[in-house]
Amino acid sequence: MAYDSNNIFARILRGEIPCDKVYEDSHVLAFRDIRPHAKVHVLLIPKGPYVSLEDFSARASEAEIVAFHRAIPKITAELGVAVTGYRAIANSGADSHQEVPHYHLHLLGGQRLGPLLSLPH
Ligand code: 5GP
Repeated sequence: MAYDSNNIFARILRGEIPCDKVYEDSHVLAFRDIRPHAKVHVLLIPKGPYVSLEDFSARASEAEIVAFHRAIPKITAELGVAVTGYRAIANSGADSHQEVPHYHLHLLGGQRLGPLLSLPH
């Protein structure tokens, strides 16, 4: 799948749409989800043009991958969930119901989260 540079997160990265920023460095941006599914719900995205976890894992540079993962403990400390715990979810592709075609990791916490999944019938 080709990267769509008009997706909503690309527009957030270009500053065309505001976001509630939690963390930023030269490789990543983290901001609060506009429709939170938990008391804490933040999206971590790479600044590079990657469609999904699949795409990011295949094509991103080692520096981008390291920066992405090193950002996580900084963000979870900032959010106050590093000790209490959190769930990280990456939807990738159609079966996962990924809506925004720019790779993002959901970080959810601030409360008990319950079972991992509830599948549709
Ligand atoms: P996905 O289903 O692709 O894994 O998750 C996309 C997430 O992006 C959803 O949780 C949705 O609420 C969030 N989202 C969509 N548009 C915006 C937006 O304009 N701003 C923010 N902060 N979050 C958004």
